[in-house]
Amino acid sequence: MTSIADNISAVQQRVQDALRAAGRSADAVQLLAVSKTKPAEAIRSAYSAGLTAFGENYLQEAEAKIAALSEPLEWHFIGPLQSNKTRPAAELFDWVHSVDRLKIAQRLAAQRPPQRPPLNICLQVNIDREPSKAGLLAEQLSEVASAVAELPALRLRGLMAIPKARTDSAGQRAAFAALRELRDQLNASLPALQANPLDTLSMGMSADLEAAIAEGATIVRVGSDIFGARAPLR
Ligand SMILES: *Cc1c(COP(=O)(O)O)cnc(C)c1O
Repeated sequence: MTSIADNISAVQQRVQDALRAAGRSADAVQLLAVSKTKPAEAIRSAYSAGLTAFGENYLQEAEAKIAALSEPLEWHFIGPLQSNKTRPAAELFDWVHSVDRLKIAQRLAAQRPPQRPPLNICLQVNIDREPSKAGLLAEQLSEVASAVAELPALRLRGLMAIPKARTDSAGQRAAFAALRELRDQLNASLPALQANPLDTLSMGMSADLEAAIAEGATIVRVGSDIFGARAPLR
């Protein structure tokens, strides 16, 4: 059995190889370790191996782990958010990647504790327009991004997507390129982003991080290739 530390080395090597192949600098991508369903002990092991940023999908589960860990960790919420359950996300996390409507952002802004730095926000985009998936459609982005950029206590950083699972790298790259183009269009067209352009593309997971990095990912979200396969999801 390989250890979490060995897995992290292998993933970091893949990230570095992909960055080099794309002609991007070695620090252009943040590796976010997706720790959903994994115990606090696994997060401790990953921290000992050098990782500091962790992604969680379920608020209750995350609250328990955040309380159990005293290490200086950066917490990213990446799961579905219901508007009546935003408070722990606003209070406990540093980033929320899965904002898919204005109402959620308004609640996060209202609930962010004033003593904490602004909550970093990505808008989730349904890049393949799948009826079963969360996320804004491309044509909804300008309006929502303009409004979110004006909210206090939040800092709109960029876009997140979970494309359809594909095995061909050309297809993977096309979906990631589409997200990058949307980010670039927003930066070029929205007066609200002039002062703070979107600098983040949260895209790429265990199976497709190379394609995402080739198309400009700045955060890759990797779970199973770091922590091992997950038990069947709830
Ligand atoms: C689970 C999850 C990941 C990690 O997926 P792996 O295939 O295990 O790397 C990334 N992003 C989101 C939003 C997830 O829910």
